[in-house]
This record gives sequence, structure tokens and C-alpha cells, in this order.
Amino acid sequence: MRSITTFDIQYAHRFYGFKGEAQYLHGHTGVLTIEVEDTVNPGVNMVFPCNEIQKTAWNVLKNFDHALILREDDPLLPAVLGVYEKQGILTGHPQNTMKGEVFRTELATAYPDCRLVVTKETMTVEGMIKIVYELLKDKLNIAKLTFTSGVNAATQEYPVKGTIDRCPLCGIALKNGVCPKCGYRK
Ligand SMILES: [Zn+2]
Ligand SMILES: [Zn+2]
Repeated sequence: MRSITTFDIQYAHRFYGFKGEAQYLHGHTGVLTIEVEDTVNPGVNMVFPCNEIQKTAWNVLKNFDHALILREDDPLLPAVLGVYEKQGILTGHPQNTMKGEVFRTELATAYPDCRLVVTKETMTVEGMIKIVYELLKDKLNIAKLTFTSGVNAATQEYPVKGTIDRCPLCGIALKNGVCPKCGYRK
């Protein structure tokens, strides 16, 4: 069975080199849906608690929220970094408190200190799905990702291999047979 949870992500981007309106910097509220597949854990009668999926995913997804997402070859990138540097906000600011976990994958690098994500490919809804899968595939049993932004939407299904050992009392993933939340031992 699947546990399904959604996230709102507000971001700014543009399609560099695209022949259309999207070549101009603009913003969206994107909605990401994560479907996690596993057996139903008999102790809690859930696949996985959705608030725990949210916590795990948001740790990294926070980097995209209220952030600017630019492709690595976009000339806006050095221009924006130059302005941030002049303003003294490139390496952080006390009011920038929504910082996610730093990440660098083949497809994207997060700079939480200045609320920026640099991508290898254009950040379309399809591009976002590829980035998110890469970031979360080892943390969650992802069966399907869907991302919608304005009138655009994309979805991808993934084969799920194996099952995650979960706590029968609170449902979260066990670490070396111990529940990090309630201390249950297998
Ligand atoms: Zn857009
Ligand atoms: Zn537990």
C-alpha cells in the first residue's frame, strides 16, 4: 500500500534560453506529491506516518522554498551572486532562518545561506522530479513523484525494492534495530 503526502514549494526560476515567456524570471507555488510504498506495518496499521515523510523530505526540500533556482550556465547567476555579495548577504543573514540541509548531487546544488539552488538542467516540473528523486531515493521508499506548478504537471513512478524495518509503536524507520523516536528495540 502507499502513504501519500504533499508539500507546497514557493520558488522563483526561469528557463534560460527558452523561446517563450518563461525565459523571464518569475515565481510559482509548486505542489510536490510523494507516494511511499511498503507493507502495512501491523503495529501502527500504517505504511509510514505522513508527518515523518514530511520531516525527512522537508529537511532537503526546504532549500527550494522561498528560493531562487537557476541553471548553472545562466548569466543571471553571477549577476545575482554579485549583488548579494555587495549587500553582504551572500554568506547568510540573521533573518535567513529557514535553511535546509546542504546538498550537492549530479543534478543540483543547494546554497541555503543565500536561498539559492543551482541546477544542471532547466528546472521544469520534469526537472524537479528528477532532482527530488535523486535527493530522497535512499531515505524513503518512493513509488511515485508528482510535481505541479501552474498549468504544468509531471509524474513518474519508480520500482520499490524491499521493505523498510519500522517501529511497531510509532511507525518510523528503525536505525540498527532501534527506534530513534521512542527507543523500542527489535
Ligand atoms: Zn515557471
Ligand atoms: Zn518508535
